[in-house]
Amino acid sequence: MPADLPLATCPKAMTYGPCGGVELDGTCEVSPDPCVFLDIAPVSWGGPDAVAVPDQPGAAAMRELMAQRPIVVVDLPAAALSTSSITACADVLRGRVDAVLAGDSGAARVQFPPAYRAHLLRAAGLQVWTGINNRDRNRVALEGELAALADVGVGGIHCVTGDHTNTGHRPDAKPVFDLDSTRTASLARRFGHLVSVGEAPCAPPTEARPGRLLEKERAGAEVCFVNHCGGVAAVEGFVSSARALGVGLAFIACVPIVLDEGSAAVMESFTTSPMPEGYLASILGAGPDPAAVRAAGIAAAVDLARRMLDLGLAGVNLSGGPAPGGELAYAEAVAEIADRV
Ligand code: SF4
Repeated sequence: MPADLPLATCPKAMTYGPCGGVELDGTCEVSPDPCVFLDIAPVSWGGPDAVAVPDQPGAAAMRELMAQRPIVVVDLPAAALSTSSITACADVLRGRVDAVLAGDSGAARVQFPPAYRAHLLRAAGLQVWTGINNRDRNRVALEGELAALADVGVGGIHCVTGDHTNTGHRPDAKPVFDLDSTRTASLARRFGHLVSVGEAPCAPPTEARPGRLLEKERAGAEVCFVNHCGGVAAVEGFVSSARALGVGLAFIACVPIVLDEGSAAVMESFTTSPMPEGYLASILGAGPDPAAVRAAGIAAAVDLARRMLDLGLAGVNLSGGPAPGGELAYAEAVAEIADRV
């Protein structure tokens, strides 16, 4: 790594920055200062090559499925720390989605450990795409989770650097950030996982995002979840720019799920992840009948997901979350969307 990188001044101590939390005006997610990676070209991957290691069984199965058809992944809507909520949501989603993305939540930072949550979901008959972040665990703890997740047989591992503790509801916690998403992608691949990463096309510096994705691929990532960026044309443009640089990753586009005011608030909290123009207004404008709003949200998501898949992508991620208490109704809606997609 070049010695002049501003590593020490990034609040997340990132080597392969920037994170996806850069504000639209270029300021840091954590402080009012500009992101220290704003004017820096993507940092070249300097770790070990993405070596060919045998897939753990869950990764092999997911790879085989993705070779056959596009997949539908759904953000797990279950309440944190609730086995009964996980089981109830799994009962709705089982057999109707290809995997649930079980990752971090800004509203509930304290979660069951990733491997335990994956175990519960696998036991309930669901395939899991587990999200792991670098905020709460150092590399040793992550290695333990990755080993356990291989044992559980998850379909994929989604590696994110993670939000800073200052931005969540546990600012009392000391953040870790021993690694970042790119370095964790490399680590996860060495455990035989099918590795995904995220990229936020609308987060500054937008012109550097495709190049940063290329470095994540060199580290070991094979799938990219494309964050909300305004719609089909924006996703197509981002994928096209990445392909032009030589990115060979499979792309899964995030589709925003808005079913009511609560799920709308969740989506609106993602400040650098815009929904398609008019998307939110057209759904909420179908009211005041909540059933009409819900139906409009389902129809809009089905339409958007289909148009994303028309781009030839590897899949869609039905993305968002319910307000507290709305987990089961949300699960039923995303299951219907998955059925219709
Ligand atoms: S926006 Fe992210 S990458 Fe940039 S300085 Fe802040 S924490 Fe670091």
